[in-house]
Amino acid sequence: MKAVVYKGNGQIALEERPMPQILDERDAIVRVTLTTICSSDIHIRHGAVPAAVPGTILGHEFVGVVTAVGNRVKKVRPGDRVAVNVETFCGECFFCKKGFVNNCTDENGGWALGCRIDGGQAEYARIPFADNGLTVIPEGVTDEQALFNGDILSTGYWAARIGEISPADTVAVIGAGPTGLCTMLCARLYTPAKIIAIDTDECRLDLANSRNLADITLVPGRDALEDTVRKVTGGRGADTVFEVAGGKDTFEMAWEIARPNAAVVIVAMYEEPQVLPLPDMYGKNLVFKTGGVDGSFCQEIMDLTECGKLDTEFLITHRCDLEHILEAYDVFENKKDHVVKYAIFVND
Ligand SMILES: [Zn+2]
Ligand SMILES: [Zn+2]
Repeated sequence: MKAVVYKGNGQIALEERPMPQILDERDAIVRVTLTTICSSDIHIRHGAVPAAVPGTILGHEFVGVVTAVGNRVKKVRPGDRVAVNVETFCGECFFCKKGFVNNCTDENGGWALGCRIDGGQAEYARIPFADNGLTVIPEGVTDEQALFNGDILSTGYWAARIGEISPADTVAVIGAGPTGLCTMLCARLYTPAKIIAIDTDECRLDLANSRNLADITLVPGRDALEDTVRKVTGGRGADTVFEVAGGKDTFEMAWEIARPNAAVVIVAMYEEPQVLPLPDMYGKNLVFKTGGVDGSFCQEIMDLTECGKLDTEFLITHRCDLEHILEAYDVFENKKDHVVKYAIFVND
């Protein structure tokens, strides 16, 4: 089968690889129908994910059809259409029992797919702990509507959930890329009065605006960020700040625009260490919450997708088949042609 393989040293390649097999009684094999590229794949390519193992098939955000299951798999059956959770987790360890599945202590636990074990930019993928990692897609939900269930939408959902948002709050989201837009979408579930979207890319801000995800849009360098945020919050600052950009100055921006006692949720994955200047923020009494996602709510997210409360299909701006995925990587990584997300068709 064809698969995108991380070769190390900034290289990826579309190669022929053997079909995955069931290795454990809790595994399932999924025939991938739709996959996508995530900014984490770009981070892996750049060597910014130390856990990533060269030789691994990339891809951790995909949907497909179950073709085989191990003896101990109960929830999914061959023929089921499924969305795949970015995280594989045992469900039995200390962290899993508390819902902190990102820190599952199993050797295949946490974000392993497309990083340490073969992922879904391929025709087929093996999913460990299939009962925990697969969510059945209901009949009324299309592959495209379900594509982001297990990764960027799970991330936005997790972030909004730990963001301590109260009704009528002012929420700032730094970064209006795919995950930033998902964060705004999920923050809306908590009925904030205002969402302030901040990005250097005005097209992405326009998209946030047009989808009613942002009430105020700000461009660093063009707009006075801190002054504007203060002005619209009675001089206080944002009640919750989500840092989803991972840029050079965006960590600093996040705590600066936060009001005292705010929650600052770091969703972004940085390629460089960040500075936490505690003397400058003394007395601000901030609560920092750091990434990565605990993908524990895929069923809830699917339910909300089915009833139309979460709709991420608009993120798909580009489509191609697996044969052309390396061109898609180039467009996605370099943000060409106003790309937000790709839908990559497999096994058509
Ligand atoms: Zn991802
Ligand atoms: Zn576990």
